[in-house]
Amino acid sequence: MAVNGTGPYNPDNIFAKILRGDIPCKKVFENGWVLAFHDIAPKAPVHVIIIPKKPYVSFIDFSKNASADEIAAVMQSTGQIAADLKLEESGYRVITNAGQNAGQEVPHFHLHLLGGKALPPFPV
Ligand code: AMP
Repeated sequence: MAVNGTGPYNPDNIFAKILRGDIPCKKVFENGWVLAFHDIAPKAPVHVIIIPKKPYVSFIDFSKNASADEIAAVMQSTGQIAADLKLEESGYRVITNAGQNAGQEVPHFHLHLLGGKALPPFPV
């Protein structure tokens, strides 16, 4: 079910549980700022979720309240993951869903990295 994409942050969301180690994930990448893992219901051969470790509900929350270092870390990590997964030549898509109209289901800001096949015309 889609969430409304505004605060307050709910620490019971599934990505918060992954960050705490309460539930497992198939980790792709981790550094001090960022965790990335395979989506549990992939929409493409490569479907990776990239999240900041700090609690932000949505893109607006993240862009307003994260530090410049943290924003850079999420962007740089996403690029590194795309390159590490050999997506640069074939191509890939990075998206975020925010709020009900976008169908955001997990109220912890995240990027989807999709690739590994010719993706349907945008929006996917
Ligand atoms: P969104 O609709 O943008 O909020 O996307 C949430 C994504 O999280 C969906 O693609 C789900 O398949 C994915 N997801 C939900 N639970 C898990 C989980 N436990 N591990 C990995 N991905 C998950």
